[in-house]
Amino acid sequence: MEENVMEARQSLSRRDLLKGAGLVGATAVFGAALSGCASQGEDGTTLAATADVEWARETDIVVLGMGAAGLAAAITASREGAETLVLEKSSEEDSGGNSRVSGNIWCVATDEAAGLEYALNCANRIADQDTVEYLTAFMKAGMTLNDDFLIDFDMDIVELPGVYAPEHPGVPHSDGCSVVYCANGTVGESALWEAMRVGLDECENVEVLYEAPGLRLITDADGAVIGVVANVEGAEVNIKARKGVILCTGGYEFNDSMIENTYPAWPLFGRGTPYNTGDGIKMAQKVGADLWHMNCTQMGVGQIKVPGLDFGNGAYDSDIITTAVHFTVTEPTEGRLSLIHVDKHGKRFMAEDRPDRHSFGRREYLGWYDGIECEWPNLPFWLITDAATGTAGPLGVASNNESSKFSWFNAHSGYEWSEDNAPEVERGWVLKADTLAELASMMEVEAADLEATVERYNAMATAGVDEDFGRAAELMAPLGAGPYYALQVFPAIYNTQGGPKRNTKAQTLDPFGEPIPGLYNCGECGAGFGWVYNGGWNMAECCITGMWAATDAAARDAWDA
Ligand SMILES: Cc1cc2nc3c(=O)[nH]c(=O)nc-3n(C[C@H](O)[C@H](O)[C@H](O)COP(=O)(O)OP(=O)(O)OC[C@H]3O[C@@H](n4cnc5c(N)ncnc54)[C@H](O)[C@@H]3O)c2cc1C
Repeated sequence: MEENVMEARQSLSRRDLLKGAGLVGATAVFGAALSGCASQGEDGTTLAATADVEWARETDIVVLGMGAAGLAAAITASREGAETLVLEKSSEEDSGGNSRVSGNIWCVATDEAAGLEYALNCANRIADQDTVEYLTAFMKAGMTLNDDFLIDFDMDIVELPGVYAPEHPGVPHSDGCSVVYCANGTVGESALWEAMRVGLDECENVEVLYEAPGLRLITDADGAVIGVVANVEGAEVNIKARKGVILCTGGYEFNDSMIENTYPAWPLFGRGTPYNTGDGIKMAQKVGADLWHMNCTQMGVGQIKVPGLDFGNGAYDSDIITTAVHFTVTEPTEGRLSLIHVDKHGKRFMAEDRPDRHSFGRREYLGWYDGIECEWPNLPFWLITDAATGTAGPLGVASNNESSKFSWFNAHSGYEWSEDNAPEVERGWVLKADTLAELASMMEVEAADLEATVERYNAMATAGVDEDFGRAAELMAPLGAGPYYALQVFPAIYNTQGGPKRNTKAQTLDPFGEPIPGLYNCGECGAGFGWVYNGGWNMAECCITGMWAATDAAARDAWDA
């Protein structure tokens, strides 16, 4: 089973996500200028004498990516009077990045000093001075974000009391430091992204090209960024950016080697857009950017393999990609407490009721590497349950509800999990057996080990004390009669935070803290959060940094003036 997963993962790596993509309308946009092909060397070098570059097109500001950060940047650039071109890697249908399939909630501080202290305490105060300065500005900007920016869009800004405000209540200064909003009272459903997308349509001097990924940055002899090499209609063309290039290309959830190098656990799968492969991070690295917060991958309980489904335009490999599910026991839902999580050897490894806290509550348990045995025993792990829970409702569910666009799977598969799990057993997503021994055999686990685990758990659940992991008594129920069910569960990467380091103008910094002239990065492409964070800060950060970057870039003198 594990080998299959690795093979499947590798096959995704090899897959050309955009193979065959065409650019609607690109010829009209570029016309004959498409012949202005890139002059970079075959080694991909970005250095060029400006006079040597043949420009296919020029504009003031190029924004790469059209998630929330890209929208905020493009809208602000337009408002600041800059001619702006947005290059989006995906088709229009698939566009919007993680922003579009996210919960679309945003969280801001209500007290900037408390917000800063809370943010630092969330990261156990592991933050360098640059991060402190950045978060100080972020908290301050968040307090007026609604009035400064979001109020202009066609949506009602609705406060969500009690949602992630704060998400880490035990952390000092959590009280009263954050408030969470959503658009129109709707979580998910792309509500914030859609409102901003409509807002972009109303902007002047902004053009969007789909299926037009940015490939590399073009710099002058001094290292200033002066343009972008992009793929337009299958040809590499140079696009001049007179005032700046703003990287809004999201994270690197779907770049296998970057994930391997920054979060040492395997296999992992993303639950957002497969177009986020760290492109902007690599482009920035190539021109000398420093990186930060590469340790901050959000990875929680949440996905299973669902072979045979189509996930939209062939962007996902349908053999391996997984659904967003919640198999946890954080709520004392009647009839659904008789379940446990066991590792590859049939043994429990964590309290099944540990809060998710945007994945940080469970990440280290899932990703623990046993350096003696040289394996990740909990990747993937198994959910084991009995007939009572196995028939009490869907074992895996779309994470919000059937209509929600929360996660790429929900937005693109249209799959509705059954009430009795029978079709999912039929599909092979859920294993079912009359006895624990038979189930263990299907799982390729020693029957005696699984039976011993269930026996011990049942005794502790009956006694009301989890001596092994401290699961709350009211959230434990013994596993009763069979048939028994097993689901192999994989961690779900919500998103990554790390990327190019930036300052409070969203200028991209080199390793010596100097801005790289003409280069900016926003949103999840280099987020300001290391270690854990409060859910909802990402969308706020997209808006804030998009505004910072575009305001600064628009005010620059054109380099070719
Ligand atoms: C299921 C889920 C739920 C979430 N819920 C929330 C929430 O409720 N609140 C919150 O604050 N955060 C949430 N997050 C995190 C949040 O969605 C992201 O941090 C945020 O959307 C990042 O926005 P972005 O604009 O930086 O990147 P994205 O929205 O991911 O957009 C990046 C865009 O860049 C494009 N792109 C990539 N490479 C290139 C290239 N080379 N050239 C051109 N374009 C390129 C991509 O196609 C994509 O459209 C959630 C994440 C997930 C996955």
